[in-house]
Parts: sequence; C-alpha cells; structure tokens
Amino acid sequence: MSLPSKPLLHTYRAPWVVPVVSPALPDGAVVVDNKSIIAVGEYSDISRQYPDIPVSFCSGILVPALINSHIHLELSIYGVVHPPTQTGNMCDWIKALLQIRENAVFSPGEIRAAAKKMARKQYDSGIGLMLDIGNIDLGMFHSCPVEIHSLYEMLGPSEDATQAAIAAIADLPVELSVTAHAPYSTSAKLLEFIKNRCRKHGQLFSLHLAENLDEGLLLSKGTGCFAQFLKDRTGSDSPFPIPGIDSSTVVGYLQQLGIIDSKTICVHCVHLSDEEIKIIADSGAHVCLCPGSNKFLSVGTVRLQTLLDHGILPALGTDSIASNPNIDLWQEMALLQEEHPGVSSENIFSMATIGGARAIGREIEYGSLEAGKTARFLHIQGVEFEDVANPEQLFECLVMNGQPDSVKWL
Ligand SMILES: [Zn+2]
Repeated sequence: MSLPSKPLLHTYRAPWVVPVVSPALPDGAVVVDNKSIIAVGEYSDISRQYPDIPVSFCSGILVPALINSHIHLELSIYGVVHPPTQTGNMCDWIKALLQIRENAVFSPGEIRAAAKKMARKQYDSGIGLMLDIGNIDLGMFHSCPVEIHSLYEMLGPSEDATQAAIAAIADLPVELSVTAHAPYSTSAKLLEFIKNRCRKHGQLFSLHLAENLDEGLLLSKGTGCFAQFLKDRTGSDSPFPIPGIDSSTVVGYLQQLGIIDSKTICVHCVHLSDEEIKIIADSGAHVCLCPGSNKFLSVGTVRLQTLLDHGILPALGTDSIASNPNIDLWQEMALLQEEHPGVSSENIFSMATIGGARAIGREIEYGSLEAGKTARFLHIQGVEFEDVANPEQLFECLVMNGQPDSVKWL
C-alpha cells in the first residue's frame, strides 16, 4: 500500500496575477500544493502567510488555463473547407463539408490521430479544458494533457432519420453524453428526446443556433437555403412552420420544446432579437461565441454588448478547422475585441476563462485563480507583457498580444 503523498507547497510570484473573478494583482502570487491552488494574493501577504516555502519568480503574467467551449476535433483531418462564394450561402459550405467527409477514405485511426494532434496543439496554446462535439466516438486520448469533455452529436431532420437516431441512442451507454446539431438539422421530436435524456442523466446539451439568417427563415416560413438543402437530402418538404408551435423566432421555438435551460449551451447566437436574448438570460442558459468561424462563413457579427447588458457572459469557442483556419482561442479574443471596441478587454478575457468554465459546468476546478481550484495555470511571457502599467493595459495586452508562443504551462 502506498502512502499518501505529502503536500508539496510552492509559491509562484509574478509582476501581475490575474484571478479573473477579482481585480488583477500587481506583484501577486499563487501558492499551490501538488494539484490544487492553496492561496492567491499580493506577494507581501502571501510571503507572510507562507514564509518557508520555495518561490519561483515569473517574469510575465499568471492567468488561469483557457477554455475552448466549442470544437469538433474529428474534423481536424479534413482541414479547411473553403467558404461560400460571394453569391453562395452557408448551405453551400455545409454541402462542401459533407461531400469531403463522404468522399474521404481515412481510417478511424487516422481521424483519431489528427484529432489527437489538434488536441495537443490546443493544449500548447494554453487550453486546459475543451468541449468537443463529434459524430464519432474518438475515445480517450491518453498522454494528451488537455482535458476533453466530449458530446456525441446526433441529427435527424426527417421522421425516418429521427426514428433511426432514437434507436441508435437507445444502444449507447448512459455515460456517453448525447447532444443535437442544430434546429434546422434536428427535428422537434429528436431535440426533445435528446434534451430529455440529458436532463435524466444530468448531462450538458449543446446546440448550434441562430448562426445564420436562413435558419430563421426555415423555422418561421419554411423557406431559405435550408428548405431546399433538406429537400435535396431527405426528399421531403420542410415541416416548418409546425402547427401548434410558434417558430417565428429560433430561441422561442426551442423554449417551447423545453430545450433552453441552465444546462444548455447555445452556440454561435449571431442573429438574436432582444426577446430571444431575454429568454436565454432568464433561463440561465449559456452562450458560446465563435467569432472566427462567423467571420470565415460571413454569417454576421454577434450583438455582444446586448448579451452583456442582459447579464450573459458568453464562453468562447474556435469551432473546427473546417470553418476556422487558425483555430486559436487567442485569435478569437483579438477578433472579438476588434469587432467590439467598446467591450472591455477584461470582459473578453473572462469569456475565454470563467465564461467557459461556467458554460461547461466546471467552475469548481477551472476558469479562475482561486483557492481550491486546479493548479493548472499559465505563465504568459514575452516583451509585449513587460511594461504593463495598470489593469486596463494588462487585459488589453493579453487579449491583443496573447498567442500560443506566449504560453508556458505551470
Ligand atoms: Zn460547431
């Protein structure tokens, strides 16, 4: 029988420490034991509290691990799928992606190897936790230090596809979290079935929604590019609008199906009305933004300030490499800042950390530097970070200058 290991206390001191949930600390320090953070504070206080433990001086900024709240690792092997032409639309991009997947001859081992390589790249860029959505079970990535929360995604726009999906789900182990793709690709019946399964097992539900205007057209009028796309794929006319369900807005429709609650992550959310934002805010549902993918697909920009005004702190995701060649959360932060110069950099950094932790339900361990949380955090270093004079500059510098090369894991 092995004895429990003795706590190995250590202090990391830096010119700036970013707890995220409390003000940034000049000349701050983080005390850790083997796996947990014990204390965070100004170094003068920490050194009095913990006088006899080793201290490492870090020249840059200490921040919590970043959280990528939306990625599809299984698509990594296919690379970038070129965006629609000027006259195209998102349906053209989806068709191109489906064709590439259907024509590809990669083995499961090759798909898995590319996914693992991408997961490692994410870790190297400072991602400690990610929410991965996929249509195949990639299994565990042993020896890959990033923590991956996986959701198995199903879709089924027609009655036949819905019945097939429900039968397939019945054969899955309950520990495997199942989620749905999007309102345009998943019938009302299948959305309700999957959400009920999630509710029964206390599991997270994530859904692409309001990513582009055609989704709203399909739901409200049964028109737009998705109506034709689905007819081509399934041979059936659109079921929308569905008698007895008001689908004049995407979120209103999902609310009637019982989808919008505190264990749901609404991904993209580019085209939301005030009323829809209020429904999300009142329900406690989470929002995950993917600005790089939105830009790549030219679907529009989110109403970030309105989301914040309603008390919603979104999470951030890269989405897959198919719609985001950079797939780098630092670039997502910088892009969001460029698109929304009036939003504070501190808010944007919070989205990539505590926003993600809350959305994925892992706030106890991730998202901030606080006593009790996991001792996996980042030392951000480089000449750009050496002359930071105040918290405002600090967050601006992190959001605009941070990059994978700035990251050293502690
Ligand atoms: Zn996605």
